[in-house]
Amino acid sequence: MPNNQNDKLPHPNLQGGRPSRFALVFFVVTAVLFTAYFFRGEGRSSAKPIRYSDFLRYVEQNQVESVTIHDNNSVDIFLKGNTGSAGIPMKTLIPYQDPGLMGVLREKNINVSGAVSGISPWRVILEFLPWFIGFGFIWFMFRNMQGSGNKAFQFGKSRAKRYQDEGKKITFNDVAGQRDAKYELEEVVAFLKNPQKFTKMGARIPKGVLLVGMPGTGKTLMARAVAGEAGVAFFHMSGSDFVEMFVGVGASRVRDLFEQGRRSAPCIIFIDELDAVGRTRGAGYGGGHDEREQTLNQLLVEMDGFDSKDGVIILAATNRPDVLDPALLRPGRFDRQVVVAMPDIKEREAILNIHAAKIPLGKDIDLSRVARASPGMSGADIANLVNEAALFAARKDKAEVGMPDFEEARDKILMGVARTTLVISDKERRMTAIHEAGHALLHYYLKNADPLHKVTVVPHGRSLGMAMSLPEEDAYSRTRGWIEDRIVICYGGWIAERLFYNETTTGTKQDIQQATDMARHMVCEWGMAEELGPVAYGQEDEPIFLGKEIARHKDYSEDTARRIDKAVTEILNRARDLAQGILESHREGLEKLADALIAKETLVDDEVRAILGLPPRTDSAAAPAAGLKS
Ligand code: ADP
Ligand code: MG
Ligand code: ZN
Repeated sequence: MPNNQNDKLPHPNLQGGRPSRFALVFFVVTAVLFTAYFFRGEGRSSAKPIRYSDFLRYVEQNQVESVTIHDNNSVDIFLKGNTGSAGIPMKTLIPYQDPGLMGVLREKNINVSGAVSGISPWRVILEFLPWFIGFGFIWFMFRNMQGSGNKAFQFGKSRAKRYQDEGKKITFNDVAGQRDAKYELEEVVAFLKNPQKFTKMGARIPKGVLLVGMPGTGKTLMARAVAGEAGVAFFHMSGSDFVEMFVGVGASRVRDLFEQGRRSAPCIIFIDELDAVGRTRGAGYGGGHDEREQTLNQLLVEMDGFDSKDGVIILAATNRPDVLDPALLRPGRFDRQVVVAMPDIKEREAILNIHAAKIPLGKDIDLSRVARASPGMSGADIANLVNEAALFAARKDKAEVGMPDFEEARDKILMGVARTTLVISDKERRMTAIHEAGHALLHYYLKNADPLHKVTVVPHGRSLGMAMSLPEEDAYSRTRGWIEDRIVICYGGWIAERLFYNETTTGTKQDIQQATDMARHMVCEWGMAEELGPVAYGQEDEPIFLGKEIARHKDYSEDTARRIDKAVTEILNRARDLAQGILESHREGLEKLADALIAKETLVDDEVRAILGLPPRTDSAAAPAAGLKS
């Protein structure tokens, strides 16, 4: 169910009522032509048709004043004034070549004139009528096949929709939360407002900014807000609009889009769902991707071909940055990524406040309670929740939306969501909390681990929660100690689950995969296993036709393979034992941490430290910016 329609970008393809208007015109024209066809000739004369033999009789009887012969085959007859039928013109067809006719007419002194019908416009139209109808039909088929719009006949036009000062402007105030994303986009806004200020300083402004986030987190909304804040034109196009049935169309649409943008600088060009065109090239089996690749190539060319000095900034959104062609992410293209994150409990409340402002609320409403009770919902889900609640209230003929309406709406949505991916039962939430607490806690008792940034049980992608660490400075290489600790942290979830439930969940899949990968890299590539020494075992190559699948080439003996496996297993076992030891001795802290996670969903470093009874971090250590340290 779509939420508040005013918030949605009307999709460029759905230009209301257009197809039906075309259909109407088409049918009216056809009907007129048909009518003309069946009544043709009627207009030429309202003459009364008579038999040829009658005509000859009139001639014999000297009643005919004059005749006009058309094309040798039809005759208009005008009788003399003194006859009974005077004034009524008549016509007849000449049924056979009558060589004697002229002689008779001349003998009776009848005025004879001839006429050639020639080619009348009507006749041309009538000749072409069947073709016209035929083509019209085919055209319809095309349009219907494509489902909407008049795509088939606007080949290369970008059809980008332009939004400028139309209706209510969307600004950052319409976007709740998302502080980090807004902060990063402020710069883009400032630049668009006053490009000279930046170019004078010689500052390089990013050409392309990629908004990355789960569906419904407000990427499209954010892009519109940037345009609204800056007060510039906004061209919106979805990646799938580029991908068409005709080869070369996508590429020319890209060209057209950038052309439009350049003409109306300063402006924002927004490409939604970039992954539809931007997938890694050459990643498919066989052909069939040429069109998309051409489009992508054109996009790359266009992005290289202009300067952000021109005042055009390209925004794009995707929820699959991992499948994007690496060329798109290189400097000078989408070299900046802004993460649009799933909202946490506070942000959900803020989003609720924005959307609930549009509906009449009852006095019993406690939006913070609604926020608490909607874990895992995106901004779009929340907008939908408010809308559904209003619908429930309306169905019950109530004047205001009350708490029970929200409850009902939430159940409906969660049940709906449950069918796709997310039902979070209380037991599952608790298990997730234990799992994440396991990861989080280990950060504090390992020597080489990065500090914890935050731990959350807000579902994220396919995982139900996560524990994020924050490196104190950018690292380009890692020490063995760091990697070993990382593996220990990976096992934290699995161990914690076993400790409290004596069983483990499928949620550990990624952790185990990561740990194993790292251990394997340690042995095979980084020379970190004493027994095997600094030797590279196996080669990675990347066959084009397999896309990103990496195939490992075995260039060592069976015996070495066994030794590698043994070394890997040893590393993993060591890490597991270490994790087990730490978590067992801090069982209480682990449980407290899990309880706090259930209550608050997200905990940052300081909060975790307080729960575990550790001293707060000193300032210098808490500031990750390298510049603050001398
Ligand atoms: P995406 O493009 O990331 O899939 P959208 O921008 O289409 O998400 O978001 C859909 C709707 O969800 C928006 O129109 C808005 O009503 C609501 N929404 C999402 N995030 C927010 C937010 N942070 N604040 C307010 N509304 C939001
Ligand atoms: Mg979107
Ligand atoms: Zn985990």
